[in-house]
Amino acid sequence: MAKSPPNRPFRPATQLVRGGLMRSGFDETGEALFLTSGFVYDSAAQAEATFAGTEQHYQYSRFGNPTVAMLEGRIAALEGAEACRVTATGMAAVHAALLSHLKTGDRVVASRALFGSCHWIVSTLLPRYGIATEFVDGADLDQWAAALSRPASLVLLETPSNPMLEIVDLRAVSELAHRAGAIVVVDNVFATPLLQKPMQFGADVVVYSATKHFDGQGRVLGGAVLGPKKWVEDTLQPFIRNTGPSISAFNAWVILKGLETLHLRVPAMCRNAAAVADMLAERAEIARVLYPFRADHPQQKLAQAQMSAGGTLVTFDLKGGKEACFRFMDALRLIDISNNLGDSKSLATHPATTTHMRVGAEERARLGITDGTVRLSVGLEDVEDIIDDLAEALDAAAAPAARAAE
Ligand SMILES: *Cc1c(COP(=O)(O)O)cnc(C)c1O
Repeated sequence: MAKSPPNRPFRPATQLVRGGLMRSGFDETGEALFLTSGFVYDSAAQAEATFAGTEQHYQYSRFGNPTVAMLEGRIAALEGAEACRVTATGMAAVHAALLSHLKTGDRVVASRALFGSCHWIVSTLLPRYGIATEFVDGADLDQWAAALSRPASLVLLETPSNPMLEIVDLRAVSELAHRAGAIVVVDNVFATPLLQKPMQFGADVVVYSATKHFDGQGRVLGGAVLGPKKWVEDTLQPFIRNTGPSISAFNAWVILKGLETLHLRVPAMCRNAAAVADMLAERAEIARVLYPFRADHPQQKLAQAQMSAGGTLVTFDLKGGKEACFRFMDALRLIDISNNLGDSKSLATHPATTTHMRVGAEERARLGITDGTVRLSVGLEDVEDIIDDLAEALDAAAAPAARAAE
């Protein structure tokens, strides 16, 4: 039998290794992988009692699974949330958080700078069901105040945002939202629970793509929704149980083991990202660098008030537009071109032609995304190798005319 844990709260590193652990009757060290679709009952009466809710017993892995429950326990412990449900993808988590809460006639206010698919849900999907939606510039509190001067049901925001690393004032927006009658849902993917805890600033629900830093090694997709126990059990759980965005126990197990090193990976990636941002800012080819903890970030103070480090992403504008970006990205020899982020491998993205192609030129301009914008997810490689690769690619991408003149 497992020993009972000491009666005091664990620190994050401990929660990431131990949180949610449930040992089976075999006393295994590592978290067990329950790769089973269903569960059996001792008797017909036990099946009846389970379905009636008078006995706790696993029924079917769409409703619940022990490996998945361990992952939920671990993420909830880290976040300091009452309850967690994990899903097959981050988008399933966002979709379930929104659609379980909303109904026809409701009103949603969201920051404009959202992950592409989150933007699509708010701009395109919700209105189909008679839900009114309004976008605001997340950094502009006057716009939030105006939009939330009328009743609303839900606020969705992302901070830092993708890809421009814009910061939303979590405390101020949560206060405005609550006065308007709305719950606040924060997509906390870019910050991770190690750098920012939105609930401490008033957020009600936090969502994650576990695909990103939680797995962080490019293997599986996953998502998580965290919130008050009552909301998770009464509002979210019936939606998830009956619509089926359930994660595979195998993928949950991979993420569970990935989390064990989150507290080692994320700070190391943040240190690399901060060094990369400083190096890029020195280069003449670069028009601007965005990194939340740099003194030249327009919201550095707010970022420092909400986050414990600047994050693992750096966004910058190359002076030569799309052509310069493509020459630069094609000249990278260590850093990969990929639209993923939060990975141990450094990854470069050109948002205008990939992740933000579909939002259109007008919306990109409003978000500040230019044809010269590059988003860099800084990984775990030696920072000198990352910096060398960036410097060599910038040299190689120098305008052909300039090179011919040398
Ligand atoms: C990746 C991502 C999502 C969606 O997650 P998936 O696991 O790809 O479905 C949502 N929000 C943000 C900020 C993301 O980076």
